[in-house]
Order: sequence, then structure tokens, then C-alpha cells
Amino acid sequence: MDSVTITINGLVASGRDGMTILELAREMGISIPTLCYDPDLSPAGACRICLVEEEKTGALLASCVTPITPGMVIQTDSPRVRENRKMIIKLMLASHPESCLLCEKGNRCRLRQIAAELNIGFLDLYKLPNYTGIQELNPFIQRDLSKCILCGKCLRADQELVVVGAIDYFQRGFAAKPATWGDQPLEASPCTFCGTCVSICPTGALSEKGKPALSSPITSVSSICPYCACGCGLSLKTAAFGVVAVEPDREKRTVNQAALCARGHYGWDFISHKERLTSPLLRQGDNWRKCSWAEALDFATATLNKVCQEHGPEALAFLGSSKCTNEENYLFQKLARVGIGTNNIDNGSRLWGPPAAQVWGAPWGWGAMTNPIADLEEARGLLVIGANPDETAPLVAYKIKRAVRFHQAKLVLVDPRGTRLASFAQPWLQLRPGSDGFLLLGFLRVILEEGLGEKKIIETNQAELAELQEAGQVISWNQIVQETGIELPLLKECARQLAREKPLAIILGDGLWQEGWEHFNLAALINFSILTGNLWVKGGGIYPLGKENNAQGARDMGVLPEFLPGYQSFLDEEVREKFAQAWGKSLPKQKGWNAWQMIAKANEGKIKGMYIMGENPLRSFPDQQFVQNSLAKLNLLIVQDLFFTETARLAHVIFPAASFAEKEGTFTNAERRVQLLEPAVLPPGESWPDWKILTELLTRFTGAPAYATPAEILQEINGLVPFYGGIKKERLKQESLFWPCFNAADQGQPRYKGQNVLSISPLIKKIMEIKERKKEAQNSFLLIWGTPLFYFGGGTRSEKSRRLRKIMPPPSLHINPQEAVKRGWTEGSKVKISGGSKEAILPLSFNKEIPPGTVFWPLTPGETNPHNLLDFPEGWPGYFPYPRSRRVSLERI
Ligand code: SF4
Repeated sequence: MDSVTITINGLVASGRDGMTILELAREMGISIPTLCYDPDLSPAGACRICLVEEEKTGALLASCVTPITPGMVIQTDSPRVRENRKMIIKLMLASHPESCLLCEKGNRCRLRQIAAELNIGFLDLYKLPNYTGIQELNPFIQRDLSKCILCGKCLRADQELVVVGAIDYFQRGFAAKPATWGDQPLEASPCTFCGTCVSICPTGALSEKGKPALSSPITSVSSICPYCACGCGLSLKTAAFGVVAVEPDREKRTVNQAALCARGHYGWDFISHKERLTSPLLRQGDNWRKCSWAEALDFATATLNKVCQEHGPEALAFLGSSKCTNEENYLFQKLARVGIGTNNIDNGSRLWGPPAAQVWGAPWGWGAMTNPIADLEEARGLLVIGANPDETAPLVAYKIKRAVRFHQAKLVLVDPRGTRLASFAQPWLQLRPGSDGFLLLGFLRVILEEGLGEKKIIETNQAELAELQEAGQVISWNQIVQETGIELPLLKECARQLAREKPLAIILGDGLWQEGWEHFNLAALINFSILTGNLWVKGGGIYPLGKENNAQGARDMGVLPEFLPGYQSFLDEEVREKFAQAWGKSLPKQKGWNAWQMIAKANEGKIKGMYIMGENPLRSFPDQQFVQNSLAKLNLLIVQDLFFTETARLAHVIFPAASFAEKEGTFTNAERRVQLLEPAVLPPGESWPDWKILTELLTRFTGAPAYATPAEILQEINGLVPFYGGIKKERLKQESLFWPCFNAADQGQPRYKGQNVLSISPLIKKIMEIKERKKEAQNSFLLIWGTPLFYFGGGTRSEKSRRLRKIMPPPSLHINPQEAVKRGWTEGSKVKISGGSKEAILPLSFNKEIPPGTVFWPLTPGETNPHNLLDFPEGWPGYFPYPRSRRVSLERI
């Protein structure tokens, strides 16, 4: 790129061609005040505060939109510049209310700061009355547009960063303001309350509603969002009495830059919820009594030892957490393996995570995305299938929409429901729920039959591809069309488009692997990516959307029955020896039970004791009654959590734990980006960070000295998990992103280069099975279910967030209005849903996004949830035991 040389404030400097004066000045460390400028938004040149003087022409130029040209001589702070800046600010202040003392923005208001910098005191201009009043009923955002300076940052954040388009300029002249379509309240607009506009607003025009206090924060602490696997960087703002606000962390190069979603921005108030556990509790009959940590830990140690001595280590099981830190999960499995001597250890992500290991093999395939989330903007083709990222992984949805809106990428959406992404799709395939495997088989056939694959890959995978071609003889196009409900010309054109638009990124979610297809659909998608030459290229790749914030980390840390940390097999003697050396004790060799099996074995009386850290299986696992009966049979149940959850109610001892905002450690997001969180506030009462509880227990069991800090635990992980080698706290403080492995598409050679087409025969077998099963009751509905934006997880975060709770819709069953009217059912009328041996009663909610013959049940707080219609998947050995869709009958009551 050519360089351009100019003079700024007497200093000669060279910049890149196309750079603005503001960008070059900032690179030189010269400060120019701005109001409407943000490095993550397109420049608008709206406020003119950034004006500078070009000495040769005498022109006053808005530096944020003026490119540097050779020979320019710029003054950024000349008397003329200052005079004009002052006048602009004075004009803004003339129509600005004098309510600074009461303004939520306080001394963070940029208008006020710049006025002070320019020494504007008494305002010698006639004040313009500009009263608008505070608007909105929603629990998150309030607008006082009398403080709006029309910088347009909120509009650009809405349209460019999160690509929602809920607001734009409304009216002209003095009446102009940012508003929704027809100036409706935000609640009546497509706004998702992500709050990106609020954190980017330079004045108090947009502010956070329902904050615990209006005080200005004193400190900012970097942390990571405790909700989904995107791993957005947060800046926790604290005052004397705790966290008072959360903003996107813009100090570091985070995955999210200036954007968050409503959960990350406003769902943090669970940390100061009055129902937090504040003291260890011991059960006494049907009651509980507070006790000291020493008593609680001694009780747990003695009872674990007793069960171990009486029934052997295999009678104990450990359920770790996809929400706790890497260090905590590492200690948890260490306690199970060397403290007790069992591999009966698993984590809650078995419920949602991708079954990638069955397809790719560990470690590379254990669920991580092949490319960074940011790379989605480099894609030219996108396929979203089995996923609704707008609700489960909003940051991924922002990137998909940006790719479509600003980089002309073509999105194929495969979803029975018309989700928010449908309006971005070209085309949206509204396939019948549960028919994904048929569609994917159809896509693969088009690639092979029309010769659209990469020649080299086809040549080297002849045997596997012959298998695929054979499948074409068994399953006709007619059958594929019948099953999917997609017309053949459209299906074929879609496959061609996906092959043509390169690089192609494939985004898939739990809808795909929870349909009872296990990992077969994932194998088909990987094949599609390999055959079309889209795997291991920038802008291409596979993006499985896991759910919880540290599901990847829990798996990486060996909170799995199959593997030691780093997916190292305990069946390998050398590996066992390495860990035994490091841990000072020999390791168990027997394969452990997974989460489902633990519960089933507890029911059979084979598991006598369980330790559950940061999971609430009574809420999040299928068949609540079965889980309850199983846990109630235990001789010992230890629960470690933030709240007195449904599972905690069955425990014999409860350890109160610290939340993400109260502890140090690392989370690993879905891209396998390891990120540091630092404590912003103290844990409430006597509660402790999970790592501290675990290190105390480990010491009791092994006699080894306690770890002093999570950094010390991370250091041990560095030495034992090859792909966490070199990840040190100090380094993570400097570098917000760090790729230990796998996501090397933008850093030269990927470490894994597999291009072998995977066997498709299990998929074909499954398709045949499904065909046989198709003789379903004609009068039944297909029930599908999913996670909504404002409710997430097992009841200890969003459900305890006052503001998220306010906006959560009550439980209801979504049905297509035509389908309901046909049966004489009205909106709000109650229906009995029967599935197998179980029933539930719900009111109907009309939703024209739902295809006829299908009903949708969004997860909500409380016991009435779709997975309680399922029977517990006893003894299931695989990753995903229960289908996301199932046949149910409905009866009006
Ligand atoms: Fe948190 Fe996910 Fe929302 Fe980011 S997208 S703020 S990680 S919930």
C-alpha cells in the first residue's frame, strides 16, 4: 500500500493511502476530540468536533472523514480550530438540559468532558427549550432524547454492528431524532435490547434502566461473559458497594469489540441477588443448618471416604461445570481421579455440545469451531442449519448478518421456523423438522452427480464416495423431497449455490445433533465442506455452536469420562505415567460413566455418592422426576453452586460458590480462545471461589499443599495439556486473544489438515431407520423446542436476573394461527400436550413463523419444560441421548 506524507502540528508523518487525518493523528499520539466517531463504526462526520485546519488552503476539515493527501499541512489545535469547536459545543449545550447532576452518564458524558477541555463555563447563548421526557417500558434501556446530540452513533451501532435496524433518523430539522419506525416504543420494534447503542452513546440520551445505583463507577475490571460460548469481553464497572454496570471491554482486542447481547449487557445482576448462598449448609433431617467451612469440608471428606471404603471409588461420580473456569474444572477432575480414584466424571455440556469427537476424533474434533468467529465476515457463502444464533449465540448472528449486509455473502438458512435470519437468507429452506439428514444427503448427491467437488479431493476419496453414490440408489430424489418438503429444483440450486460461493462457512447448532441423528449429520456437513474445498480455509470452515460459556474449557480440562486433560487417554500407559508423576498418585484405568449413566446408575443403586459443581441437573436434564428419584437415593450428594437450586435441595452438604465476577481464572470460548477473568468484587458472605473449595478438598485427600492462586493451577495445566502450554496469566493480561490450537486459518498453516471424507454409511443407515419409523399417528404434531434469548441455562443466571426475568415471556406453546383456527382453538386457550407417558398443560401462543403440523415450545423458567415430556435416556453411551423434536398429541382442555 502506498504511503502518504503530511505534516501535523509541525511533525512530518507518513500514513497509509486512504487513512483519515484523525487516524494518522491518533497513531502519532495527537489527541483530537470526537463525539460522533467510533473506530468500529463507519465515519459520519456529523458533529464536526474533530475539525482541523489545513494551513495551505485555510479549510476547516472534519478529520474523521477527510483522507490524508500528500503535502497537507494540518493544525489540530489552532486558535481558529478551538474557536469553532467551542461554538459547536455551545450550540449543542444550548439545547441540552442542565440536569448533569442527575444524569446517569455523570462525568462519563463526552459532551461535558469536551466542554470542560475547551473551558466552556457560562453559556452565552439563548437556551432552546427541548423537553422530550423519558420513554420506554422495557427493563433495560431508557431514552431521554433531550440529551441527544444527533451524532448518529446509536443508529450506526444498531445498523452496522448488530444489524437489527430497529432505529433510524425520524423527522427533520429541530424535530429530528433517532427513533423506531413510526416512533413506536422500543418494545414494539425489532430491538433485541443488546444495549450496544447505550454503551456507545456519548451523552445521557440513552441510558441503562434499572441499575442498582446511579453512581459513576470507580473501577473497571476485565471479565468474560458468563452466558454463551461466544466469550464476549466484559468490563465490569464497580462502585463502593459492588458491580454497577457492565460494558463491552474495549480496552482489549475482544471477540465482540463494541457489541454485546442483552444477556451479557444486562443479565449480570444475578451476582448481587439476595438469594445467593452465603454460608456452607449441612442437612439435618429435613432442615438445613449453617456451618463453618471446616465442618462442611470435613463432613464431605469423611463421607466421600466412607462411601469409597464401603463401595469402592466406582460408587462415586462427579458432575463438573460448563460454567466454571478451566482451573476449577481441572481441579475437579483431579479430585475425582487422584483424590477418589474414579473416572466417573463428566460435565453439563453433554446436554448441548456438539458430538464432534465421534466424527473427527479427539482432540481436534472435540467441539471447537475450525475458524475464529470474526472470519465469518470473510465468507462469501454461509449455511446455517439446526441453529438459531440470534438466540443462542447472538455474536455469531451479528457476524453472519454483517457478512450478508456489508460483504454480499449469500446465506442459506435451513430452519423449520422463520427466525430473524430468514430475512437475510437467499434462500430460506423451511424443511420439515427432523429431516436434516435427508437434505444433507441430497446436497452431497448434487455435488457428486454434477461434478461440483474439488477434483483432487474426489480422486483421493474414491472408496468413501462410492459409498455415497450407492446411497443414491437406495434413497430416491422423490423420497428426499417428500421427507424434507423442499422442492427438488430449489434443493439442487441451493447445493449449487453452496458449492459456488466460496469460501463457505457452515454454522450448525444443537438442532442438528439433537434430532436423534447423533453425529451423522455433522459427518455429512464436514464431508460437504471437504468436498467443496471449504475446510481449513479463511472464511470457510465449520462452526458448531455449543451452548455454555466454558463448555469447551470443561472438555479441554478432562471433565469427561473418556479422557484426561487435553483429551489424553488414560488407557495409554505413558500418558498415565506422566500424570501420575505430576500428581504424585497413580490413576484409575477403568472407563468412567457419563452424565446420563451416572444418574441411571444412581437410580439402580450402583452410584452411592455424587459431587455436583455448578450444574442443576434437576432443571436442565430430561425427565425431572427420574433425576429427582435417582439423586434422592444417594447416600451422599454434595452440591456446589451460587443458589439453593432444585438439585441443592436434595444435597447433604452445600458449598456456596463465587460467581464469575468474584473470582480469577480462564474461560475457553467456542473458538478455543482462552481468556482471563479477574475478580471485580468479593464473593458474598462466606462463599468461596470454586477453585478454593476444591484445593482445600484436594489437600485433605492427597496431602499435597493447597494452590495459592488460579495462576498456579494454570501453570500446572501448561505443563500437562500440550495445547495450553505457554498460556500464562501475565500473557493473557496483555493479549486478549490467544490461539492454542486449531483455529490457525488466519495464522499460516492449520495444525490439523485432514481432508479425508468421512464414512457416510451411518447416516444412510439412520435414514433407512427413519423411513421405517414414519408410520406416525396422522393427528399428531411435531414438537420442537429451543432456547430463547432472555432465558438461558439451569436457573442460576438469567432466571435470577431481575431485568431478564421481567422480559421473559410466560410459558406457552407456539402454534401456527391457521392450524389453531382450523381446530377452533383461540390464542391463550389451554391444551394438554401428551408425549409418551408424560403430559403437560400450556396456553397457546399464535406464531406464524411456525409451520403447520409443528408446535414450538421455548424453554422457560420453572418445571414445565419440554424435556420433562421425555423419558430419561438410561444407559445411553453416546453424546446426545434425546431428540430435539418428537411427536405429541394436543387436546384442548
Ligand atoms: Fe454473552 Fe454470548 Fe451475549 Fe456475548 S453473545 S454477550 S457471550 S451471551
